[in-house]
Amino acid sequence: MIPDLSAAIRNNDLFLHYQPQLTADGRALVAAEALVRWRDSRRGIVQPDQFVQVAERNGLIDQLGCWVLEHACREAASWDGIAVAVNVSPLQFRRHDFVDFVTRTARDAGLAFANLELEITESAYFDDPARAEGNLRELRALGIRVALDDFGTGYSSLALMRRLPLDKVKIDKSFVDEVGTDDGAAVVRAVIGLANALRMQVTAEGVETAAQQRFLQESGCDFLQGYLFSKPVTAAQLADYAKELRRPA
Ligand code: C2E
Ligand code: MG
Ligand code: MG
Repeated sequence: MIPDLSAAIRNNDLFLHYQPQLTADGRALVAAEALVRWRDSRRGIVQPDQFVQVAERNGLIDQLGCWVLEHACREAASWDGIAVAVNVSPLQFRRHDFVDFVTRTARDAGLAFANLELEITESAYFDDPARAEGNLRELRALGIRVALDDFGTGYSSLALMRRLPLDKVKIDKSFVDEVGTDDGAAVVRAVIGLANALRMQVTAEGVETAAQQRFLQESGCDFLQGYLFSKPVTAAQLADYAKELRRPA
């Protein structure tokens, strides 16, 4: 699988799907998350949970991360006012030249920094706290936004949220799944309250039902992403989706 993946990156056998992120009322498309897929001649379409960790363990994550960032920035440069969110592996994030690499890539692609968001996970911080904080401050000073992905699934401490200069937290799908229960609802409300108190915005992931949307909107969540609105789609389909949303009802 490893030599195959390395060749796939070189041969452009990867492609990106984009999943819409909307305002909580579901009316406006504000961003789309780039999600990588691999088109393999034997296995068909391979999903990222089958190969991103493999790439991390085998020294291919830099190559993979570069490919994704370059292609996402290039495609998103022509989007009209819609930002692109790119997942960044902790291993990539702790590279000493990470900020240079990101800014160079966005500039070369012609993507405004204001239209780029990076999604990191908390392990980006635990691996090297000083580097993580430094990179975050530099990125934000340039106007590149940073979101904490999969919030709630790891150690997600209060100290971490206070310390890291983040723009946004993404509440993991496993919490969204539970908002129909009293405890689940209380947890999500508490996370939104905490994020707002720390001047961070909140995106909920994996929103699948209208009831979940209603609850999240009423609870003050800013943005929503999930199958209720759209699965990850091609860039062309994303453009159609944006047009459809803009059409007056
Ligand atoms: P993630 O960043 O948390 O991305 C969200 C995942 O949830 C995506 O799966 C998306 O398709 C799925 N999803 C979104 N809405 C719903 C929903 O309503 N219901 C359900 N059941 N699922 C939903 P995907 O595309 O398979 O990606 C899985 C993970 O792989 C991502 O989780 C991310 O951690 C990683 N990944 C994807 N692309 C990249 C990349 O370019 N670089 C890195 N480092 N990681 C990536
Ligand atoms: Mg993500
Ligand atoms: Mg996530």
